[in-house]
Parts: sequence; structure tokens; C-alpha cells
Amino acid sequence: MARSGSIEAALSPTPGGLVPLLLDWFAANARDLPWRRTLDPYAVWISEVMLQQTQVKTVIPYWERWLGEFPDIRSLADAPEERVLKLWEGLGYYSRARNLQKAAKLLAGTRGGRLPDTADAMMDLPGIGRYTAGAIASIAFDRPSPILDGNVVRVLTRIHGLPGDPKGKELNGRLWQLAEALVVEASGLPVRRSGTLRSAGPCSMLNQSLMELGATVCAPRTPRCAVCPVAVRCIAGRSGRAEEFPQAKARAVATERRFVAVVLSRGKKVLVRQRPAGGVNGGLWEFPNEELADPRADARSAAAAWTGLAPQGFVALQPVKHTITRYRMTVDVFRVEVGTKKFPGVIGTTWADPDELERLAFTSAHRRIARRLA
Ligand code: SF4
Repeated sequence: MARSGSIEAALSPTPGGLVPLLLDWFAANARDLPWRRTLDPYAVWISEVMLQQTQVKTVIPYWERWLGEFPDIRSLADAPEERVLKLWEGLGYYSRARNLQKAAKLLAGTRGGRLPDTADAMMDLPGIGRYTAGAIASIAFDRPSPILDGNVVRVLTRIHGLPGDPKGKELNGRLWQLAEALVVEASGLPVRRSGTLRSAGPCSMLNQSLMELGATVCAPRTPRCAVCPVAVRCIAGRSGRAEEFPQAKARAVATERRFVAVVLSRGKKVLVRQRPAGGVNGGLWEFPNEELADPRADARSAAAAWTGLAPQGFVALQPVKHTITRYRMTVDVFRVEVGTKKFPGVIGTTWADPDELERLAFTSAHRRIARRLA
């Protein structure tokens, strides 16, 4: 048996019986998710990209709307970028949406609008890394291509009792090897298929079982080892040390940032601006705003100085708080009625009425501001 702390021991042999346990458990316990009802590689691709950094229940309506409007690679390739961003609005990390469209344009131009069927070839496309390629290749084409995301890292480091930083070169390489050994072992095995999974192959089911176990049983905190199908093979679970794995590096300390945003109103219209292409959140819309150089500065005075308007007219709205990577951001928001179209210091691009506000794609924080105006 592999001993805690021994990567080599964990690698060889693969703990006996793990693959059948995972396949049987998944066949009986897989959640009925809309993208599991199809083998369309494009639909699987969209689900995998949306699921990065985002929970399943959030993704479902986004995925359904996206597939309804862009049912295939060609329709995505031909869509206006503004519309692509709008359908992604709220999911964050907008480079994912832009890369999807970039890849779709390439595929429409060179491969008749079809994804290649191997992970290696997929990795040549923008936005498709090793995890996404492995997921699409295994789920849509039943290839024995491994996957390794946060859920799989957690499950494998616990099963094998692997210490160390899973993002570090050595352990990360070992985890990919372990993931590959499992999916290769599953390849060609007979699987029980039913309901949602009636067309899934063994490689698809094995990879999805690892993701599913991490998402529903082997949770980061309070894993449910008592009902886990692989508990008998799990080093961390059997020794009551599940929560000690994975041993990630300490997170960087969060940095506080403070912004001030101004909603300039003229009747029913408000001033909004589009972020420059190529920068952070490029192409998305927002209310005019600035970051305060001194996070303790008085936001109202800063907004007045910056817009050139009298501070007395500023009505404070509820601030918006949001976190992106290691930044904890607070946006102080003021609404002010104005009688002119021009403002010193504010580069406004359009006056939008409520319908236009709804139609435009906003950054998440500024969509929350827009909702407060309704
Ligand atoms: Fe995770 Fe516990 Fe199952 Fe091990 S036994 S895989 S720690 S849930």
C-alpha cells in the first residue's frame, strides 16, 4: 500500500479497484446536468470554459442561453463581439469569452467549423489549456486524456496522501501522471450507462467521476468520507487527515482598493463609457469611475474634484464590494442630476436610457450599480 508522503509509492501501482469504484459510483450518482445530455464537442467545450471559476448552478442558465443563441461554432464565429460579451455578462474573466470566439473564428475558417478530436490538437486553440482539452477529448470523444483541476487535485492528493504544493513542478507532474493512469485504465472497460449518461464512454465517465466526487463528496472543508465510494482506498480519508490535503501555498494577502463611480443623470438617461479594447475588461461598459490613490480619501470630495461638479448635488448610493483574485475592491457610488452633456474630466461615450443599459454588457460591479437605478 502507498504510504503517506511517498509519491513513488502512490504512483505504482494505481490503488487496485479505484477505477471500477469510481465508474460504478458515477453511473449511479451523476447529477443530471444539461451538458451531460449531449456529446456535441462544441456544447461540452462551452460548458467546460464556463465552469472554470464558476459554480454549476450559476452556469446552467448561461450555458442554455448561449447554446440557444450560438448553437454551433459558425454562429459563434459570426456573432458581434458585443453580443458575445453580453451573453457572458456576470461570469467574469471575459478573456474566456473572447478566446472562445477567437477559436471559433479559427475553426470556422480552417476546419469547417469543427473542433479537432484530440487533446493535443485542441491545445493549439486560444483559451484551451491542458485541462480543457482533456475534458473535451474525454467527454465528447472518449479519448483517454487526463484532466486535472482543483477538484481532481483535491481528490488525488487525498486518496494518495500526497504532501507538497500541487502547483509545484514535481507534484503537479505526478498528479497529471496519476490522472492519466486512471483514465487509461478505464479506457475500453465496460460501463453501466443509463439516463443522462447513456452515450458516455468509460474515459468520459472516469474523468467526470473525479470531478463529481470533488464537487459533491470530497469537499474542500468537511469532506463526506463516511459516504465516499473510494474511502476504502483513500489514505487521507482513512487516517482522518482529509482536510490536510492538498497542501497549497499560503495565499497572498488581499489588497484593498477603493474606487469612486459617478452616475450622471439627464432625465431617464445616464452617462456610460466603454472600456478600451485590449485592456482589462476591454469592450465592457461601466459608469465613469476612478481609483482613489489614497483609499482613505473622502470619496465625495474626490468625485467632485474629478468631475468638476459641486459636491452638494451628489446623492450617495449603496457602495459595491467585490473581490477579484487578490484584490478586495469597494466602489463608492454617487448619483448626480446634471443639465449639460459635457463634463470636465469625464470621458463619456454615450447617454443610455434604461433599455440600452439592459442591452449593453457591463462589468459585474457596474451591472450591480445599474440594477440599483431601476
Ligand atoms: Fe475525499 Fe474522504 Fe473520499 Fe478520501 S475518503 S476521497 S478524503 S471524501
